[in-house]
Amino acid sequence: MTRRVALLGKPLKRRHSQVMHDAAFDAAGIDARYVLRELEPDEVEPAVREARGPGWLGLGVTAPYKPVVAGLCDEVEADATAIGAVNNVVRTDDARLVGINTDAPGFRSGAELAMGFPIRGGEVVVAGAGGAARAVVYACLRAGAARVTVGNRTPAAAEALVAQLHGVSHTSLRAAAFDAPAFEKALRSADLAVNATTVGMIDPGMTIPVDALSDWATVFDLVYVPPETPLLRAARARGLRAANGSEMLIAQAAAAFELWTGVGGMADVMRAAVAPLLADPAARA
Ligand code: NAP
Repeated sequence: MTRRVALLGKPLKRRHSQVMHDAAFDAAGIDARYVLRELEPDEVEPAVREARGPGWLGLGVTAPYKPVVAGLCDEVEADATAIGAVNNVVRTDDARLVGINTDAPGFRSGAELAMGFPIRGGEVVVAGAGGAARAVVYACLRAGAARVTVGNRTPAAAEALVAQLHGVSHTSLRAAAFDAPAFEKALRSADLAVNATTVGMIDPGMTIPVDALSDWATVFDLVYVPPETPLLRAARARGLRAANGSEMLIAQAAAAFELWTGVGGMADVMRAAVAPLLADPAARA
């Protein structure tokens, strides 16, 4: 029996995850396929129920179904509970569904590769307060960052994020409006500046004023379509280290694959498989 993992979401415009996971199934000699399921809201609960069946390894979850799928799991891992978002679901051998979040370890891996040194002890500025930003901030707190400053277009969302994750570690964590002196001060001493908004992908423009950063800062943009956002272009023009979200995408996928199959070390296979899509500035499908 060919087993399955289904990605649940709406719309599903991208094939990056499917291409990575199918290549990894093939390389690992596992008879399984990653399928895309664009669902209406009333189709989500039956789809999750179906995934308890023996032909299933788990689920991937994307917008807008992350909150609803979390509520349909039998268990949600502690990290995913703290972050408040489930991006993958693992079906256990006894047919239980466990919600997990692999964005946080994926971000840490991608960001530390871009920086060339660990987040531990560093100062981080994060733009954004959605699900991805929560995973980014959580990862920085768990990695032992010295200070994390969160800015967002809607300041109340950044304040809510800080309130939610306050206490995860001893890291100094605060919210600041984009135009507040505290945000600019944080930018000046940041080791890592992260765009965790959709700006650069859907909306034009930049969330991080690159001129305010120090010469030693690394800029990490979670966006990977297009491969070079205006933020990354500006950072590179200033001579800063800069990376898009592709290594995070690959690392979070490899982490989920290992939990579904028990097979680790698939990042290189996934990177090779997804490279043509990542290199295509128009690759949305
Ligand atoms: P989300 O929950 O919808 O949050 C969107 C965020 O973007 C919010 O902070 C929102 O601010 C902000 N935003 C939207 N339009 C804006 C604008 N015009 N100006 C300033 N801020 C704006 O989305 P998400 O799930 O967190 O995803 C955020 C990004 O991360 C997406 O581009 C996604 O593709 C990317 N991502 C990448 C990876 C990876 O593996 N590389 C993984 C996960 C996510 P408000 O609160 O003011 O609306």
